[in-house]
Amino acid sequence: MTERGRKFLEIGVSALIAAALGVLFWHQSRNHLDFYNSGFREMMGTFTQITVAARDEQQAQGFIDTAFELMKQINREMNDHDPNSPISQLSLTAHLQPVAVSPELVEVIETSLYYSKLSDGAFDITVGPETQLWRRMQKTGQKPSDDELSEARSKVGYEKLILDKANRTVKFAVEGMKLDVGAIAKGYAVDLAVKILQERGAVGGMVDIGGNIRCFGTGPGKGGLWLIGLQDPRKDNAILLKLRLNEMSVATSGDYRRFAVIGGQSYSHIINPRSAGSVKELASVSVIAPLAVDADALSTTVSVLGKEKGLALIERLKDTAAIVMTTQEPGKMIQTPGTERFVEKE
Ligand code: ADP
Ligand code: MG
Repeated sequence: MTERGRKFLEIGVSALIAAALGVLFWHQSRNHLDFYNSGFREMMGTFTQITVAARDEQQAQGFIDTAFELMKQINREMNDHDPNSPISQLSLTAHLQPVAVSPELVEVIETSLYYSKLSDGAFDITVGPETQLWRRMQKTGQKPSDDELSEARSKVGYEKLILDKANRTVKFAVEGMKLDVGAIAKGYAVDLAVKILQERGAVGGMVDIGGNIRCFGTGPGKGGLWLIGLQDPRKDNAILLKLRLNEMSVATSGDYRRFAVIGGQSYSHIINPRSAGSVKELASVSVIAPLAVDADALSTTVSVLGKEKGLALIERLKDTAAIVMTTQEPGKMIQTPGTERFVEKE
């Protein structure tokens, strides 16, 4: 075992391939508060749910509707699958002149550039030309040619994305660049939803967009905490471990929910921007961090960096922890020491 390997707590879990996050509690009462769950709704290409503490159903419904409306707005703006969304439109012309963007998109781009620098380009929202090829491959079952891959690579690179924060504009240094904020927008939307719930007076809540989860305030679990299960995506209700969280977020990136299969081989939707190829080493990455936007960006970052570099990065960051599983040994969870305090011990 390597020096680093020894540092992590390695837990063997047989027959469990990869993990997804699931929520353990639906509806409970605590200190005269009831917890209300919205049920799963389709949003941002995945399923979203909100749980709130409220004094009655009417108040809960108000909280839930407000948060969903806000998340829809973010999706309308940042959905690069929609050719008419502002983010798609800006990608068409930003090589010609600076394009005005919303304060929200400025924030998302700024945070993205921070993670690009931190990861030396492993995380990169200019990966759009490469994810376009991946999406085409998923549809047609045909791999892109070497020429197409090298053409796409030449359009990718965060250093070619020029953000003018003061004037709120974005410019591309090269034609054909394309922004894809799919690895960070869900976390960002979760944080905004939590903010509006708190502003409206919710004393506790949890927002979950496709496994990007943040909880705040009073929860339904023991000690008012929120209990979140790390579960096997292939077996319903098979929980690998339980996390006890408060004022924290957790996000999971994996190769099991979105992938393309060609010639019996599976290709993850997470791309290494340098090679334009799908990542292979990690089957599942869960990151725990105070903000959902950071957990989201980091779970993708670690997926690209791989176990050694990825976990080393997580250990350098304050209040941040990770649980990963490799494709080679999918039954084994590897945790950074920071995870310990969140794991529920039965
Ligand atoms: P999910 O969308 O399943 O929650 P992620 O948060 O890991 O998973 O985001 C993956 C998405 O991010 C991909 O579908 C793609 O749109 C985009 N993406 C892929 N590779 C990268 C990368 N290296 N850096 C930034 N974004 C990426
Ligand atoms: Mg992500």
